[in-house]
Amino acid sequence: MQDGEKTDHLWPGPSADHIRVLSPHRESWPLTLPLFDMLPSDPPDRLLDIETVYLEPEAARTAHGAAILGRFPDAARIEVASHWRIPDLHGDPARAADWLKVKRGVLVLGVRKTMTVRPNGRSADYIAPGPSTGCAMACAYCYVPRRKGYANPITLLVNTGAMLRAVERHAAKLGPKPKPVQTHPTLWVYDIGENGDLSVDAYLHPGVREMVEGFARIPNALASFATKHVNRDLLHWNHGGHTRIRFGLMPEGMAKRIDIRADPIETRIAAIDDFVRAGYEVHVNFSPVILEDGWRDGYARLLEQLSDGIGARARAQLKAEIIMLTHDRFMHGVNLEWHPKGEDHLWKPEIQETKRNQMGAEALRYRHGIKGKAVAELKGLIAAKLPECVVRYAF
Ligand code: SF4
Repeated sequence: MQDGEKTDHLWPGPSADHIRVLSPHRESWPLTLPLFDMLPSDPPDRLLDIETVYLEPEAARTAHGAAILGRFPDAARIEVASHWRIPDLHGDPARAADWLKVKRGVLVLGVRKTMTVRPNGRSADYIAPGPSTGCAMACAYCYVPRRKGYANPITLLVNTGAMLRAVERHAAKLGPKPKPVQTHPTLWVYDIGENGDLSVDAYLHPGVREMVEGFARIPNALASFATKHVNRDLLHWNHGGHTRIRFGLMPEGMAKRIDIRADPIETRIAAIDDFVRAGYEVHVNFSPVILEDGWRDGYARLLEQLSDGIGARARAQLKAEIIMLTHDRFMHGVNLEWHPKGEDHLWKPEIQETKRNQMGAEALRYRHGIKGKAVAELKGLIAAKLPECVVRYAF
């Protein structure tokens, strides 16, 4: 991009021929797109078949909003005052039973109102204002819906140019990183995907690519996001080596039971070499670690699978984070409505205790002694099976 200050630019758009060549089925793509050299692929049908779009009118008037809406010309459009609180979606307890139907068929489109950059110190140095606040995936342990209610469909915020400018200003104020820390030795790390899966969002939202490519222009910053989906469009982006992708991993058997809608573990592992070859930094995210009979064997097999599945280049740069499961009473109730079997693995009051999290909310975590012992055991397994892999942090 030429202009570092203005990234929500309008482009006259691709010619009709351009659209036909790149995406013959995409007749409805609107003529207002960032100047990218390729259009995003369509999302897999199993993930999204949008029938209803809830939208803030202001979002529809932006270039990105128009581009996203243009993908779903036949979807019903319902105007809402705020993407954050939609009474007949987030506020309706009956929606919980349709959790997966809502994930597949509903899209929410809004404008981010606050551009706060929050300190983190775990996965990243800071949490950036990000382009999504709801997710197409349906991981049973997801914490994002705790503040949403009874539905949490993919929710895209269109003003990514302003988000990027907020990070640019923040990073400029910080200047060079004074000393190496676990997040990164020299760059300030900003998590840009805290409340969604950007690999899926990127099928629809041009702003995801805009943000990733925008970080290439910020000399002292690195974008970072966790994902459980492999979107190979990202392999062609001009990220400038300033993005870290964290593939979420857990034992395959458990993933099949609770990583609902996510790609199989073997698919995620198989993508690591390709993303490293494309210049991304790729880490793995053992998250959440779920304790039950056989968990050690599951992780031993997972680590062998990972070790066998990646090449020397990926191995040399690989780091990991370990995040033990947290859960809460409200999500337990919601999950019982759509995936009660998942709760057999997540809700274990006999080995869990209630604590207040960083946001002041009550959360259920493994009891102190149990959790500490499990973290040490998992670190030991990693050291034995994949000794090159540094554990950046565990909590
Ligand atoms: S991918 Fe992340 S944000 Fe999406 S449902 Fe899973 S845990 Fe939640």
